[in-house]
Amino acid sequence: MSKGFFDVPLAVNEPVRNYAPGSAERASVLATYLSMKQEQIDIPMFINGKDVSTSEKGTMTMPHDHKHILGTYSLAQKSHVEAAISTALEARKTWSNTPWEQRAAIFLKAAELIEGPFRDRINASTMLNQSKTIHQAEIDASCELIDFLRFNVQFMTEIYSGQPESSSAVWNRVEYRPLEGFVYAVTPFNFTSIAANLAACVAMMGNVVVWKPSDHQVYSAKIIMDIFEAAGVPAGVINVVFGDPKMITDTILQSPDFAGLHFTGSTQIFKQLWKQIGNNIDNYRSYPRIVGETGGKDFIAVHHSADPKEVSVGILRGAFEFQGQKCSAASRAYIPQSLWPEIKQLLVQDLKTFKMGSPEDFSNFMTAVIHESSFDKLADYIERAKASSDAEIIWGGNYDKSVGYFVDPTVIVTTNPNYETMSTELFGPVMTIYIYNDDNYAEMLSLVDSTSTYALTGAIFAKDRYAIVQATKALENCAGNFYINDKPTGAVVGQQPFGGARSSGTNDKAGSPQNLLRWVSPRLIKETFVPPKDYKYPFLG
Ligand code: NAD
Repeated sequence: MSKGFFDVPLAVNEPVRNYAPGSAERASVLATYLSMKQEQIDIPMFINGKDVSTSEKGTMTMPHDHKHILGTYSLAQKSHVEAAISTALEARKTWSNTPWEQRAAIFLKAAELIEGPFRDRINASTMLNQSKTIHQAEIDASCELIDFLRFNVQFMTEIYSGQPESSSAVWNRVEYRPLEGFVYAVTPFNFTSIAANLAACVAMMGNVVVWKPSDHQVYSAKIIMDIFEAAGVPAGVINVVFGDPKMITDTILQSPDFAGLHFTGSTQIFKQLWKQIGNNIDNYRSYPRIVGETGGKDFIAVHHSADPKEVSVGILRGAFEFQGQKCSAASRAYIPQSLWPEIKQLLVQDLKTFKMGSPEDFSNFMTAVIHESSFDKLADYIERAKASSDAEIIWGGNYDKSVGYFVDPTVIVTTNPNYETMSTELFGPVMTIYIYNDDNYAEMLSLVDSTSTYALTGAIFAKDRYAIVQATKALENCAGNFYINDKPTGAVVGQQPFGGARSSGTNDKAGSPQNLLRWVSPRLIKETFVPPKDYKYPFLG
């Protein structure tokens, strides 16, 4: 039991290292990258604090050089998933009763380990297996993950200190209990930090977890588990299984102790999982918590008072960093006719300087997309745009998978505001632009609102304050994260809590107290000091 009301260290965002030429940090991460590239590692699952290897293996490659094998990883059979569930439930008996400051200490230590000794490894694994440039790896795998861990500890204490009114006769207390059962974390390939956080923040609140990472993020998942182990996460609290998502999910969702789903990934998979949970509802002890952050069709809307250079940079960074594989990536833009010639010229001028290739070469701004099916899907959309009378490709349009899954940054201009790439999430480096008549600003805003089923992020660029006010109101429900004169990507933990509504998710805002609240079940304890001894109320007299 705690014997004090402890303050936690004030959370501060982790500074982003710049890896400039000649810097020690650049040499160090590159050396780690090169050595991990040659290692040929075999990655086990992690159940009950132990490495578990199986004979059935998946293969890890580098998307920017897909013939280069980084290693293998073990694939689960049903019995491994069952073992992960039972070991989690066993661990829950101790973990759910572990004082909060002890749990906090473990995750604060994990943050410190990432900041120091594990930084190069977690960045390098993200560069190798997810093809992020060093900058993209640094802001994700190191900085955002450190921020999630440190800020969530602070948010946890804020939640625990939320207490009801009491009087001298009655003391009311709220305990924030962990959920009764275990939580299933299902994570995407595109953010190492999100993958780690989906398991870690749930465990921080006293829960136990079975975590299924994406097949395309296995290397950094392994480093995350090394960090959690080194930080002292007890055996059985976070268990990792790799493999067939359907078999793993079916096994997990059959358990009566399934207490929650923490999902980030595509909308279609999340909807499937929700239905499956609904169909099993009679089997569960409690109503499972369902938290899902999913796809986006994120927009940049431009008013004629905007600065063309700011718009062009917003599009270039918003649409093409990490090859457009961010849920928040800008993929549709609405540009007034009067600004289009200048914005087009600025876009093309900068696109000419973009370099694409391996993250090993730090001068590359872009690398490859994650896997062959993503590459093939993007190639299909590009070919259809080439053939369409509604669309013109003004930049890019080439792709080549002979070495890595490289897709050129591609800009499509369409005359049809409902053209397929204005409404469908492609998850790649393709930006579609619709040019509108300056006088039709209100109509353009209404198009932004109605064109896609998603509502994740979006931006308005304008100098005219009334235009900003009008957009803020008109676009109220089509972005959970709305940006004024900024690109719609790059949310920072503690500053821009992240999540969207409509088809984009449950909007429980990762990196905020709202999300942590989903992983606790409050118990109110009312204690009456001097209970009444007569049932009759005065009015009865
Ligand atoms: P994905 O949906 O293909 O995979 C996500 C996870 O679901 C993976 O672990 C995958 O193995 C698992 N999965 C696949 N089929 C499953 C099944 N039948 N049952 C259970 N699990 C299954 O997504 P992805 O390609 O890894 O990531 C990209 C998607 O994630 C995009 O749609 C992107 O917008 C979204 N995303 C959203 C956010 C956000 O915060 N809104 C953040 C990152 C990514």
